[in-house]
Amino acid sequence: EVTQNFSKQSNIKVAVRLRPLGEKEIDEDHFEIVQILEDKVVLLRDPLEMMNQKDFLSMNRSKEKRFAFDTVFDKDSGQVEIFNNTTKTLIDGIIEGYNATVFAYGATGAGKTYTMIGKEHDPGLMFLTIKELFERVAKTQSDKSYQIKVSFLEIYNEMIRDLLIITNEVLELREDSTEGIHVAGLTVIDVDSPEEVMDLLFFGNANRTQEATNVNATSSRSHAVLEIQVEQKNKSEDVNEDINIGKLSMIDLAGSERAARTHNRGIRMVEGAMINRSLLSLGNCINALVENMKNGRNQHIPYRDSKLTRLLKDSLGGNSRTVMIANISPSNLCYEDTSGTLKYANRAKNI
Ligand code: ADP
Ligand code: MG
Repeated sequence: EVTQNFSKQSNIKVAVRLRPLGEKEIDEDHFEIVQILEDKVVLLRDPLEMMNQKDFLSMNRSKEKRFAFDTVFDKDSGQVEIFNNTTKTLIDGIIEGYNATVFAYGATGAGKTYTMIGKEHDPGLMFLTIKELFERVAKTQSDKSYQIKVSFLEIYNEMIRDLLIITNEVLELREDSTEGIHVAGLTVIDVDSPEEVMDLLFFGNANRTQEATNVNATSSRSHAVLEIQVEQKNKSEDVNEDINIGKLSMIDLAGSERAARTHNRGIRMVEGAMINRSLLSLGNCINALVENMKNGRNQHIPYRDSKLTRLLKDSLGGNSRTVMIANISPSNLCYEDTSGTLKYANRAKNI
């Protein structure tokens, strides 16, 4: 029996990560409108209300919003702390052959890529998770043999592209009885060290579709999906034995901000709508799964509504575990985005 940080009833865990204000934001006199209370509660204040009141005590409390989550990480939480409380708890299951999915959700600039990929000197969840996987696998290697494989793709405007090679080719999502759901022609690399994966991550991330918009020159409109497969075989048994495969999908989602806010027209507006459709579809699937768990029902899960949810069909729901990390900025200028992210995350939780 695998022991993990998940209760029997809930395979979905929602965490919130607040980032600190950046230097530039401090220089530009942004102020903080988010506060974490007792590790579990996020307090969001209306910036207009804060500016109108001279002191904290006279603030109109009805303008405050409070949200409770499984886990809330304050602005001083480091990458390792996030890892220890999120994906680390999934690793035993992956090695045993279960699937799991981790999402970084949030508006552009909220800290999704920092959380998932991080910096070379301070790597994020993708690297820390892979490193731990290699360490755990090395410990059990005496009676079993393992191979770790990775692929890295992006979904941009509902089109799938390989991030591990330089290409503009659009890949097809296929489903058949032998391979299940898979992306035809996607590069899958056998990896032998975490450092090798680190190089692939930075290569792939630089390869993502990015373009200038009014809001942010590197705003990311694509979903980046890293899939880590762990293949397990008993060394003693014959070669025809079934291979046990566990999969962990780690996803740096596209920015959740509304298309309207970017003041874009034409193509960018279409892209915005597509992103919202994918994120909406993901939200709908998660909400349906949460409802089913809560009420013991068996309502239909709308996986087919977007590329992202189709791709993740066998890693969302069932025996699979899901962690959603909702990233938020503390800045007064991000009030609408932060409020939207907290509402989305609030709907996904099961408490
Ligand atoms: P997103 O991918 O959601 O658009 P980024 O991850 O690129 O956002 O983060 C925006 C900026 O904030 C980057 O400069 C990043 O380095 C910084 N940042 C994000 N999260 C943190 C954090 N927890 N601590 C320090 N800096 C952060
Ligand atoms: Mg990003």
